Amino acid sequence: MINGLKQDSGRKSMIKNVPKEVYTECLYCDSCTKHRVLKGRLGKNFLEGIFRCEGCQHTKSTTIQIPRSVKIPVVISNGSTSRTSSTEVEEGEIIMVNDEFLLENGERLKVCSLDLGNGQRKKKASSENIKTIWAKQFDNLCLKVTVNHNNKSYSRRVSAEPDDEFLIGQVLVLSDMECYIHAIKSRAHVVLRGTVEARDVVRIYGKMKQWTKTAETGKT
Ligand SMILES: [Zn+2]
Repeated sequence: MINGLKQDSGRKSMIKNVPKEVYTECLYCDSCTKHRVLKGRLGKNFLEGIFRCEGCQHTKSTTIQIPRSVKIPVVISNGSTSRTSSTEVEEGEIIMVNDEFLLENGERLKVCSLDLGNGQRKKKASSENIKTIWAKQFDNLCLKVTVNHNNKSYSRRVSAEPDDEFLIGQVLVLSDMECYIHAIKSRAHVVLRGTVEARDVVRIYGKMKQWTKTAETGKT
């Protein structure tokens, strides 16, 4: 199943054992890359240790913050009826009206309203302040893509059906560029080879292949 990190309370550290690999920023590669954990000590919400980048083999000693997760009840409206579920998001994550997200069962939802308690409704809030998410079912996914090129990263979106598969190495056609997919962050872990179904994708990382529109229009 997708979510192997289930827990009783939403306010515990997500990782209980020192992982063998982590995905973190490499100053030499200038992007988020896979690092081997050579030595690690796990704190409540951090991992302190020595990490080696698998891209450039540089070793660094540092502390990585591990985001805690928050469990938020979700009320899903369906015509005149509604039902309740819940979702886990990272503490400090900003949630907005019209954000699209997935429940653990793969159901696609869109945020309609955020309830902060005491009848307070907001269009945008940090996850730890949200008491209930009001949502409705939604059909098409809009996936986040980060493309690295010349020390810059570009954020783009790509729409997909939940069953669509994304393959590491494939060319992805975006609004103004084409990129090669080199990593996919899924709900469970970071995928560096093989395929991920769109319904499990959190973010796709790409390397620039080429602009498909002129650089002027592409750099907006
Ligand atoms: Zn590196």
